[in-house]
Amino acid sequence: MGTHPMEASSRPVFEYLRLSITDRCNLRCVYCMPPEGVPKVAHAQILRYETILAVVEAAIAEGVHRVRVTGGEPLVRKGVVELVRQLAGFPRIDDLSLTTNGVLLARLAAPLREAGLHRVNVSLDSLRPERFTRITRLGRIEEVLAGIEAAIRCGLAPVKINVVIIPGENDDEIEDFGRFAQERAVDVRFIERMPFQAAAAAPFVPQEAVLDRLSRFLTLAADDTRNGGGPAQVFRIVNGRGRIGFISSRTHPFCQSCNRLRLTATGVLLPCLDSREGFPVENLGQEQLRTLIRDLGARKRATGKPCARFEGARCVSLSDIGG
Ligand code: SAM
Ligand code: SF4
Repeated sequence: MGTHPMEASSRPVFEYLRLSITDRCNLRCVYCMPPEGVPKVAHAQILRYETILAVVEAAIAEGVHRVRVTGGEPLVRKGVVELVRQLAGFPRIDDLSLTTNGVLLARLAAPLREAGLHRVNVSLDSLRPERFTRITRLGRIEEVLAGIEAAIRCGLAPVKINVVIIPGENDDEIEDFGRFAQERAVDVRFIERMPFQAAAAAPFVPQEAVLDRLSRFLTLAADDTRNGGGPAQVFRIVNGRGRIGFISSRTHPFCQSCNRLRLTATGVLLPCLDSREGFPVENLGQEQLRTLIRDLGARKRATGKPCARFEGARCVSLSDIGG
């Protein structure tokens, strides 16, 4: 794994900021939300874009150079294209991405690209229309597939497809997802399901089992040239076009190399997905924000705990915090 960023004291603790811009979503994925959705936060409590941009400015001054827009579903928030345009205007951001369920992407891919977005991650847990609708409770797969094609067409590259494999639900599609990446210039990334409360016991399929099944028909070569240097382990498909990635918080915890800072939709900074407390940003000026981010960095450096325990964590669903 090499030297992790927190050992190399010359590197900032936080290099990557994830912005959850809404808690709302047009889907209700079974592992993310209860059928009725999570209790909606009042509009007035959702951070204004102005405040989000102030946090971004302070975070950049403290070393952040990668930013991801997420949610809830970020594309349901009005003005998201303009937000992206403003973010793209910060010269220090060298990686500007967005995570979406893809439902509205066919329409928004080109405007987002034009506004300066570099790339997208699209969540897709089944390639079978009926099953996709069952897992998302509301979604239509044709819309998401059209969104993925639009993203590829307008150069939001690399397009990454996030798949959460759930035993007994979609684990019979591992090979199909492998072929999806073999045939297209996309990264398919298998994410081990995390045990949030909405996911109860959260059975998951470990990385090694997925890799073993894919290796029967894909020739995979470890790929270190991957975009972004995040927690994913990435393999190039030698006998195909795309790549395969794994984000395995349960079998390969990556806490020790985590350089992420998160801002929730209600304006709380979290140094870790597992944080028990949040730090509100509303009404803080640049100096105060920078001090807060430095303090959170010191806390993060001081904690040596393993990932993905989530006992007593503040986060009950990734829809608030943004995954
Ligand atoms: N709505 C957007 C989407 O679905 O891509 C962005 C937000 S969503 C919370 C971000 C990512 O978190 C998605 O890829 C989703 O699959 C993942 N996610 C949600 N709950 C999860 C869980 N319990 N374990 C692992 N991943 C989860
Ligand atoms: Fe919505 Fe994304 Fe959660 Fe699915 S994973 S319910 S699309 S926020």
